[in-house]
Amino acid sequence: MNPYQTTLDRFLRPGIPCSTSGHRLKTLDVHLLMRPWLVAASFRAYSFAFGCKQFRMIRAFATKVSHKVSTRSVSPRMGYLVSQSIETESDNSRTVTRRNLMESGVAGVGAIALSALTATSAAAHGTLASHTEIDNDNTYYEIGGAASAFSYNAGFYSRLETWAQFFYNNTPGTWLKPIRLWTYGVHVDKGSASHDYGRGFDLSRIYATVGGALTLVSYQRYDIWRTYTGNQLTTYRRWYWGTAASACYHFQYVLHYLYNTDHWNHIHIDNLVSGTGNSTFNTTSTTQVKFVQASLNYVWGYPVTIDGVWGSQTSSYASQAIARGGGSGSLTASQTNWLLFCRTTTRYGTGAQAY
Ligand SMILES: [Zn+2]
Repeated sequence: MNPYQTTLDRFLRPGIPCSTSGHRLKTLDVHLLMRPWLVAASFRAYSFAFGCKQFRMIRAFATKVSHKVSTRSVSPRMGYLVSQSIETESDNSRTVTRRNLMESGVAGVGAIALSALTATSAAAHGTLASHTEIDNDNTYYEIGGAASAFSYNAGFYSRLETWAQFFYNNTPGTWLKPIRLWTYGVHVDKGSASHDYGRGFDLSRIYATVGGALTLVSYQRYDIWRTYTGNQLTTYRRWYWGTAASACYHFQYVLHYLYNTDHWNHIHIDNLVSGTGNSTFNTTSTTQVKFVQASLNYVWGYPVTIDGVWGSQTSSYASQAIARGGGSGSLTASQTNWLLFCRTTTRYGTGAQAY
């Protein structure tokens, strides 16, 4: 565990579930807000340690909060209200700590400050377009199950259409359209780096028409199926990781149930890093490595330890899977091998093809 992430996580605590979006929200800890000097002092320590622009920004934010709190006679209720005004969506807060602190240095802390500041006003999110379908697969809201329109950034929507076509082409030939995609949401101004801009999609389930009947063929509700047993458990798990593989092919950030408990009921997908292109594999990404290890276990049948650490055991089994899929070499050798692993895991996991 990165010590800075651990420290940052202490500033965040599980908050209230958002009744409209279904996201669990995070709030800055009320007790820390009640001790503004501690917040400011802590961020000053970060700033001293790194001396970068982002930390100066968050220090300025901390000072602002300190001033706001300390210039009033703060009751516990007021502290709560202050924390409400700077809430962040779980994907964002976790994403920032893991993605930026662990993979790209320290810029993420600045992102927390920025998202917190912008959350108080309607966040600027560029031009969004409303759609009721993705590649003609109608979209449904996980909460209530109604056919619903969602707002997307155009570039992200294009990537989702490419993903939906890929999913259709690499899943069993008996899984026919109409297909229904269920989601917890796309655009929502909650201080989430991806969802604010209509560039995050929270996939919860997929129905396909099988034998003339709409059938649940991919279920991201790990919170539900994790208690299943026998063939039902192994089938849902294979479908889950097969679907995750299809997303990992197209998007750099795919947050699954092994990422954290906030993602036990959906897979978060965004293109903040991968943009208009496909993804690449990064051995320092715990999330990607866990995806590889889970796929090797539950799809390919290799007993690799799922710990998020890239090592010789994982690498060896991944190479064997690549060979079975018709490639050669290691997963880290090229983007081609990574994409081959994701595509064959999609096909093997969903049952389109055995290797
Ligand atoms: Zn999300």
